[in-house]
Amino acid sequence: MRIGFNEATTMEKSDLETDVRLANQYGFDGIEIRLDKLHDYLSTHTLAELTAVFAAVPLKPWTFNALESATFRGTEGHRELLHETQNLCAVGRDLDCRTIIVVPTSDVGDATIQTIGDETVKVLKDLGRVASEYGMRLAFEFIGYPNCSVNTFAQAYAIVERVNMANVGLTVDCFHFHAMNSHLEDLSQASPERIFMVHLDDCDPFPPGYLRDQHRCFPGQGVIDLQGILTTLQRIGYQGPVSVETFRPEYWAWDVEKTIAAAKQTAAKTVAEFFKGE
Ligand code: ZN
Repeated sequence: MRIGFNEATTMEKSDLETDVRLANQYGFDGIEIRLDKLHDYLSTHTLAELTAVFAAVPLKPWTFNALESATFRGTEGHRELLHETQNLCAVGRDLDCRTIIVVPTSDVGDATIQTIGDETVKVLKDLGRVASEYGMRLAFEFIGYPNCSVNTFAQAYAIVERVNMANVGLTVDCFHFHAMNSHLEDLSQASPERIFMVHLDDCDPFPPGYLRDQHRCFPGQGVIDLQGILTTLQRIGYQGPVSVETFRPEYWAWDVEKTIAAAKQTAAKTVAEFFKGE
């Protein structure tokens, strides 16, 4: 199974060029590019320079992470998002980074699951049509926080089923899966073609609803049932990839190389343990 590195793991001390160099050096297959780090890079470099950076290494750019608060934006906000999507798709096509992660909005008030579903399906269809013109895909990522409008695997899966476009699928983040008690039984009934990315991580032993991004840790060092999630993914025929994504301030304070080395070592061990025969 291919293993990638998500740049959130080295949020504070690193930059895109450093992450690419070290992720490549430590044997990652791909990298998920944070939009803030992309914008920083492009403020002093050209896209052609970034293309050359990737052309020089085996490491591939996998996703842009992320279009945030994509739903319930109102007419003007939605128009801005379509414009942003178009720009990002043009960059993705040039860079051959073909997937954009899309995140739902939090604190939308008393919206029912039906209303949230209708809104999210509409937005993903609009964005998906734009993306398809550029040969790009969207990977919708539910967020396992109580106040997020889409916060379980089952809810997110039902939405991409309704969207029913080949270029619109899911990101399944193990932390978000665990953090609001998503069910392995739901995952076991999913079609692997609907899952474009898996974020691999673990977390501290806090209760559902309390857990936040900073409680994430490297795979194998926390309480998430990674064995259950990964063996279920394997059973349904998911072919990968997975990508390590933590937001732990402790790791941000480390030397960047130490963080990236530890991310690779723990991810490779977890995948070898639970994705048998790979
Ligand atoms: Zn994630």
